Amino acid sequence: MHQTEPLRAVCVSIHDVAPATWLQCERLLRAVRSVADIPVSLLVVPAYHRQRHACNRRFERALEYRLARGDELVLHGYTHLDEAPRAQGWRDSFVREIYTRREGEFYAIDSDEARRRLRLGWDWFAQRGWPLEGFVAPAWLMGEGGWRALADFPFTYTTTRRRFHLLRNGCALHSQSLVYTVRSSWRRQMSCAWNAMLLRSLTDNPLLRISLHPIDASYPDIVRHFYRMIESALEGRRAMTKAAFANAYQASLAGAPEAVGAGAALAAQRE
Ligand SMILES: [Zn+2]
Repeated sequence: MHQTEPLRAVCVSIHDVAPATWLQCERLLRAVRSVADIPVSLLVVPAYHRQRHACNRRFERALEYRLARGDELVLHGYTHLDEAPRAQGWRDSFVREIYTRREGEFYAIDSDEARRRLRLGWDWFAQRGWPLEGFVAPAWLMGEGGWRALADFPFTYTTTRRRFHLLRNGCALHSQSLVYTVRSSWRRQMSCAWNAMLLRSLTDNPLLRISLHPIDASYPDIVRHFYRMIESALEGRRAMTKAAFANAYQASLAGAPEAVGAGAALAAQRE
């Protein structure tokens, strides 16, 4: 009987892709390419911080080039701004004001507002004729309204910081993302150590996720570190876009009904 290889993938993504961040994104893409010429997922924000930018057309041509070479474009919010009314409780205030610095666009909005923003993003991709399979909420934070609205769109997947959610069969795979915190020197050192530990702890996981942000490009120690993380991941894993992983994982579950059951149980944990 034909034995299929177990799925072992690494997805490298770049968050907050927009005209204002494109120079830094290009630096990240060059650094990734210096490890290997692998496909990446670009998390695009159509109206990033509501800025109007003069070089939009050049930016869009650059994204079309990335699409043509096998990268994926993912919808990553619409403005990347938390514009909902101010929080009341201390926990929500901490998450919204300090942890995300008011960038968790889908954290506090209701389902009508979430649906409106998803529709704007969906149409923005459609107007450009760009394929769209994935949605990732800014700061990976999605409130109840966001989850409800997402169910009304034909996205294949979404991701949170800890999980990869296949939206068509309600299944979620635990796979914590490697991500860098760069606000101070000690945070950079801590996040490098933490990410190296995560890389080891995810050895047996079908999916390893490495998430980069434009600001990471400004720190040579971070660039050197993610270079080594990608290099090490590629020793036993195949690089693919998130959309390619979603489809491959879905196909691998099709032959393993017990795995779907386990995944469905996890789907309730939306963090
Ligand atoms: Zn973001």
